[in-house]
Amino acid sequence: MNRTLENIYNLSPAVFQNACVSLYGLKLYFREYGKKFHRLLDKFEKMQWYSYEDLKEYQDKKLIGLVKHCYENVPYYRKVMDKNSIKPSDIQTVDDLHKFPVLTRKDIKNNFSSLIAKNYRRSELTIGHTSGTTGSPLEFLYDRRICLVKNVTDWRQKRWAGINPGDKIAFFLGRVVVPITRKKPPFWRSNWIMNHKFFSSFHLSGENIDTYIEELERFKPAALEGYPSTVYIIARFLLSRNKTLPLKAAFTSSETLYPQQREAIEKAFECELFDFYGLAERVIFATECAAHEGHHLNMDFGITEVVDKDDQPVNRGELGRIIATGLHNFGMPLIRYKTGDITALKPDKCSCGRNFPLMEDVTTKAEDIITTYDGRLISSSILTHPFKPMHNIAESQIIQEDLKNIRIKIVRLPKYSEEDTRYLTSELGKRLGGDMEIHVEYVDSIPRTKAGKFRWVISKVPLEF
Ligand SMILES: [Zn+2]
Repeated sequence: MNRTLENIYNLSPAVFQNACVSLYGLKLYFREYGKKFHRLLDKFEKMQWYSYEDLKEYQDKKLIGLVKHCYENVPYYRKVMDKNSIKPSDIQTVDDLHKFPVLTRKDIKNNFSSLIAKNYRRSELTIGHTSGTTGSPLEFLYDRRICLVKNVTDWRQKRWAGINPGDKIAFFLGRVVVPITRKKPPFWRSNWIMNHKFFSSFHLSGENIDTYIEELERFKPAALEGYPSTVYIIARFLLSRNKTLPLKAAFTSSETLYPQQREAIEKAFECELFDFYGLAERVIFATECAAHEGHHLNMDFGITEVVDKDDQPVNRGELGRIIATGLHNFGMPLIRYKTGDITALKPDKCSCGRNFPLMEDVTTKAEDIITTYDGRLISSSILTHPFKPMHNIAESQIIQEDLKNIRIKIVRLPKYSEEDTRYLTSELGKRLGGDMEIHVEYVDSIPRTKAGKFRWVISKVPLEF
């Protein structure tokens, strides 16, 4: 939405805003849920049961086509390929992909227009952007095919959870659907066409949360989708009132999902949680199935590599950085894009029978990892343990300033006492080591990122790998 339209939207009554959301839904419906969508969903439903060899063959074929297209139509890649003496015929399988240099965020910023394929009209492409949690927002363009493929991959996972297009879904995402200045409910807007209701993630407060719950009870969604931290707030609130709100499934994405969040969400909504990992860059999409043994790397979406600091592949089970190549966005192709996220590939196959490899459950942003004074790397999920018994904390955040200093921001509940601080610092100290100083700070609230995301751990110490 452009600024003027956004202003008009914000000043309009709720009924007009609902109509806007529904009209937008109608546009999306025709564009993204038409015949093409159903045809591709059928194809992707079949592909998920392909043998590993057949999936590799699909990737090889797609990659050959992509590289040929890049050489012929994308000025940036013509230059890169000439410079590195790569001919399209040099790329025959996924194993040849390493001949390409990695593509960084900086490369995209500096070469934006030469990354756009010449045989696409600008009007055929839509703009996407990252929230820039790492401090620098980034834009790119999508063609229609990738929008469709993303949608199909998303719905394929929803069907793993028993949710189908047309089912009622409540969303708690980063988009501002209700003006921030609004003080009274409704804090939600409806897309009548799709049966979706978008709840504002920015108005959740002790005062308002009851009205959210009432609306959810009235709407009776089959599923709920949102950032783990937001869905967790609602779950904790329900549980504190000894209430539940039964759903068929809950979906989370976009932030690290911590074990205690999963536990509370599954309990409060009496359903299984299906996490997924995708990037706005649309080069990777990893989805959890009903076996919950990790996140399936959808091989029909893109090619994923996990590498060390020299961009060499790490062994299965070892942590490394994710490099990904999207197979469908020919409008602005990204080959070997360095994501900045960290994961490990699981050695075992999923018991569900699908041959998509499994990625670790917790995929972490590099800046979510604490480096201790003695050089150990502590994943943020490990630090959740000391917080488990802390019932007097509404919210917290861990900030590593440097190798020696950790700041803990705490939003206290009324029963919080100094005893809690003592317990917390001692338990964290056991994990971080005695050389690190832990400073506790009491705050009224913890700011979200621009995209409304919550970051529990922020480390300012650069990672060594
Ligand atoms: Zn599975």
